[in-house]
Amino acid sequence: MRVVIIGAGVAGLACGCYLQMNGYEAEILEANPLPGGLCVAWDRGPYVFDGCLRWLLGTHPSSKFHRIWRELGALGGRQVINDDEFLRVESANGRVLSVSPDLEQFSRDAKEFAPEDASRIDKLVRAAKICAPLEPLDKPLELLSTLERIKVLIRYFPILMTLLRWKNKGLGAYLAGYRNPFLRETLEALAGDGRMSALVLVMVLGWRARRNAGYVVGGSRAFVRAIARRYARLGGAIRCNTRVVSVIVEDNRAVGVRCADGTRIPATVVVSCADGRATLFKMLEGRYLNKASRYAYRHGEVFPAVLQASLGVNRTFPEICSAISLPLSPPLQVDDTTRHKRLEVAVLGSDSGLCPAGKSILIVRLASRYDYWANLRERDPDSYAQKKQALLQEIGAVLDRRFAGLSRQIEQADLATPATFARFTGNWQGSIQGWLPTPRTLGRRLPRALPGLDGFFMAGHWIETGGGLPSAALSGRYAAQMICNRDGKEFRTVAA
Ligand SMILES: Cc1cc2nc3c(=O)[nH]c(=O)nc-3n(C[C@H](O)[C@H](O)[C@H](O)COP(=O)(O)OP(=O)(O)OC[C@H]3O[C@@H](n4cnc5c(N)ncnc54)[C@H](O)[C@@H]3O)c2cc1C
Repeated sequence: MRVVIIGAGVAGLACGCYLQMNGYEAEILEANPLPGGLCVAWDRGPYVFDGCLRWLLGTHPSSKFHRIWRELGALGGRQVINDDEFLRVESANGRVLSVSPDLEQFSRDAKEFAPEDASRIDKLVRAAKICAPLEPLDKPLELLSTLERIKVLIRYFPILMTLLRWKNKGLGAYLAGYRNPFLRETLEALAGDGRMSALVLVMVLGWRARRNAGYVVGGSRAFVRAIARRYARLGGAIRCNTRVVSVIVEDNRAVGVRCADGTRIPATVVVSCADGRATLFKMLEGRYLNKASRYAYRHGEVFPAVLQASLGVNRTFPEICSAISLPLSPPLQVDDTTRHKRLEVAVLGSDSGLCPAGKSILIVRLASRYDYWANLRERDPDSYAQKKQALLQEIGAVLDRRFAGLSRQIEQADLATPATFARFTGNWQGSIQGWLPTPRTLGRRLPRALPGLDGFFMAGHWIETGGGLPSAALSGRYAAQMICNRDGKEFRTVAA
C-alpha cells in the first residue's frame, strides 16, 4: 500500500521508517534539496555550524526514547556526551553558579547562593526526582484500550499529583516566588520562556539527572543522516526539491497530493509532517478542522523564533564544559521590541565532531520576533543584511569582553534569523518547536486524523505540544501505528 509523506524532517523520516517496517511502500516528498527540516547544520570552512541539536532526550539506554532512536538507527553507535556541568551562569558582580546534573550537588550549590530560597529548592529537586522516570506512551492515546489506560494510570499514579501540580503553574509566576534574583535568573536560563509551564523546568532537571538528555557527537547532521540511511535501507524513497501545494481529496478521502510543478502523485494514504498551519489551512483549505485546531491556530502560543549567531574560533575553552550564560549590561536589543539581559553561549570543542582540534564553535541563540525579520527581509534586503552584520558585531564584542582577544580569533561567523528558519522549513512564525508548552497546553495534542477526512494523518512537532526531536519522531511512529491499526495490521518494529 502506497503512503505519501509530506516533509522529510525527523517526523517524516521516522514515520517513513516505521511504515517500511510494516510492509508499506512509503515515499517522502521534501521541498528542500536535503532531508532533515529544522534538524540542520551547515559548513563554514572547517566548521560545521549546527542549527539544532544541543541536547537529545533519550540518550540513556533505559529510556523509551532511546528505544525509538535505536529502532531508527539514529545514534549510529556515536558517543553521547553528558557534561558534569550543563550550564555555567555568571552574575554581573562576577559570581558563578555551575549547574550540575546531579540533583544533590545542584541543591547544595543553589542553596549556597540563595539560602533564603532553601525550601523552594528542596521542593523543586524533589519534584525533579519524582518526575524523571516519566516516559511516553507505547502507542497513541487513541489506540489504548480501557484496560491499557487503567494500567498507565496505575503506573503513573505515584507521580500524577506532582505532575499536575507543576504543570498548572506558570514558570514566570513560579520563578517570581524566588527571593534571590540570581537564582531566579539561573532557573529562567535553564527552562526558557516564562509563559511555559513550570513542569518544563522540573523535567529539564529530571532528564539531566537521569543522564537522559546528552549531546550526540556529530550533532544534527550525523543524526539526521543516520535516520535517512536507515529509511533508505528499509526500502523507503525520498523525492527532494518537491513542494506539495495541496492534498487531493475525492469524496472526503485523501487520494494523493499535487506538487508545485503541477505533478499529481497518487496515494492510498497521505501523512503530512510539514508545518501544521500550512497543512490545515493551505493544503486542505481549512475544510477539516475540529474545535481544538481552530482554537490552537487562533489563540495558541508558539515557541518563539530565534536568531542564531554562529562563530568559528581558533582557540579552545578548557574551562567551560558546555554552555555559559553571561549578563548583558546594557541589554542587547535584537529587533524593534526585544531586549535581552542575558546571553547564553554554547561552546563546542573538537569532541563535538563539528570542528578540528584546537578550534571551537560558539553558538548564541536569542529569541526574536519573526514578523520583524521577515518584513525587513522582504521590504529592504540591504537593511536586513546590515542589521544582521551589526548584531553579529555586537555579539562578537560582548564575547570579546568576556574572552579577551576573541574577536581576533574569529575565523567564520554567520547569523541565521527567524526568517531564515521559516524560509527553510515553512514553520509558522518561525517557531523552532511548534506549540509552546504553557500550563494550558502542555500534554495536549492536536488531532492526528482529521474529522471527516479518510486516508489522511498528521505528525510532527505541531501535533505534540512541546516539540523537539523526540516528539517529532514519536509522532511519526504514532502516525504509522494509526495507519496499521486502520488496516487491521499488528504494528511491529525491526531492530536497526
Ligand atoms: C535553533 C533550534 C534549536 C533546536 N534545538 C533542539 C534540541 O537541542 N533538541 C531537540 O530535541 N530539538 C531541538 N529543536 C527542535 C527540533 O529541531 C524540532 O522540533 C524538530 O526538528 C521538528 O521536526 P519535524 O519533522 O516535526 O518538523 P520540521 O523539521 O519542520 O520538518 C518539516 C519538513 O517538511 C518540509 N516541508 C514543509 N512544507 C512542505 C511542503 N509543502 N512540501 C514538501 N515539504 C515540505 C520542510 O522543508 C521540512 O523538511 C531545535 C530547533 C531549532 C530551530
